[in-house]
Amino acid sequence: MKRILFEYKFTALYLLLGLLWIVFSDRMINSMTEDHTILTRLQTYKGWFYVLLSGGFFFYYLRSHLVRLRDAEKKAVESDRLKSAFLQNISHEIRTPMNGIIGFATLLENEDPGDELRKEYLGIITNSSNRLLELVNQILDISMLETGTVNVHPRETGINRLLLEVYEQMLPHVKPGVEFRYTAGLESGRDGLVTDEYKLRQIVGNLVHNAVKFTSEGSIEFGYTIQKDKAIFFVNDTGLGIPQEKLTEIFKYFRKAEDVPGKFHEGAGLGLAICKGNLQLMNGWISVKSEQGKGARFTFEIPYTPSEKGASRTNVPSLFESTSPDKFLTGFPPKAFRDATGSQQQTSKPAKEIFTDDLTILVAEDEIMNYRYMSELLKDTGIRLLHAANGEEAVEIFKKRPDIGMILMDIRMPVMNGFEAMKRIRGLKPDLPIIAQSAYISADDRKKTLDAGFNEIINKPFLREELLEVIEVHSPKIL
Ligand code: ADP
Repeated sequence: MKRILFEYKFTALYLLLGLLWIVFSDRMINSMTEDHTILTRLQTYKGWFYVLLSGGFFFYYLRSHLVRLRDAEKKAVESDRLKSAFLQNISHEIRTPMNGIIGFATLLENEDPGDELRKEYLGIITNSSNRLLELVNQILDISMLETGTVNVHPRETGINRLLLEVYEQMLPHVKPGVEFRYTAGLESGRDGLVTDEYKLRQIVGNLVHNAVKFTSEGSIEFGYTIQKDKAIFFVNDTGLGIPQEKLTEIFKYFRKAEDVPGKFHEGAGLGLAICKGNLQLMNGWISVKSEQGKGARFTFEIPYTPSEKGASRTNVPSLFESTSPDKFLTGFPPKAFRDATGSQQQTSKPAKEIFTDDLTILVAEDEIMNYRYMSELLKDTGIRLLHAANGEEAVEIFKKRPDIGMILMDIRMPVMNGFEAMKRIRGLKPDLPIIAQSAYISADDRKKTLDAGFNEIINKPFLREELLEVIEVHSPKIL
């Protein structure tokens, strides 16, 4: 139905009220007296009465309309400001690492800077690439949270070990002189908890990463305590702090406390929103207390369900203290942070080198650059590689080459995707190791992929050790 515009409603109401008043009030006073002098006076009072009453009524009506309009205007101005802050922030977050990659790659292309500088340049290129990858992963995380396609996968988790891992990964990035420590609320061996380990690691990792980023003196402490059926985690720092009026804002997507254009800290403003979204799914909550300039105290809570087994896999002291070393590595924590946030699968130990001339691997991959990268990684191992540009080609090649001992299968490919190709090849040789490789795997996708029949999943881009470990684990021939 078409909405009647305010000015028409307002005028129509005004005329209607006036008409009704004139008709009924005239009738009323005419029935009261016939004395003309009194009638004239009553007419005057009647007029005043109408003016005052209608004035009051229309003032109220007009004001409530204007308040709504002004609110909408304020919101529009604010959203315009946020939009430009958001665009500047995102463009900064993309441009900075892109500049690093393009700039240093060009330097390497144009001249030979010598061994030491080459190593440094390559480090910058890797860090910048990881930073870009992290941004893409965060954007995928929030879009999945928004569409409600994230599930919780509880499993036995040793909290102390998880904390120690985050501690070790963040330690090299703590600024010199800042005390960095964590405390555990349960004895190691009794610190088993049933929860979504991937999400918990992502939340703790993100909060500690923020504390490290915003603290240049004083201390950073994180840990947890158990209170009845709740595990309460905290991350306290003595850093920059957050202004009071931003304490709720920072949990929204793309919001940063310092959203003033030109005054950026690294980060897209997504981490806390992802933490909050995940905690809601885990029946938990998160809150923050802070005073600007004096630091921040983040607290989050999840239900505490002790695991039957009760123990964490490694013996971690229940109170562990350490002060950071004197060096601070600038730039984005590369693999360390990816592991801390759980965006990548972790390789706990480097794989031993594989040298074999007995293994042929079919790589199904539509991006030729990725295939070249893999063949570069495996060039000294003696492993023979075959290439298929899509799923259909993979099936065809497999039928012709009985010597293929393993397949590394990209999931998204044109013509026929990796799932379909894997199923067809499984139909021909059920026990062949088929490893899925994918650019982004959420915990849900991971489960789906394994349930579909892949032996393992490896996230792109992977390092040489990660690839070798997967090959080693799944290739009985060379063990
Ligand atoms: P970002 O990637 O920008 O760090 P987050 O969502 O993790 O995104 O954080 C949002 C904002 O909250 C940050 O940009 C920062 O302004 C503020 N913030 C988060 N943690 C801290 C902290 N420990 N100290 C000061 N400010 C913080």
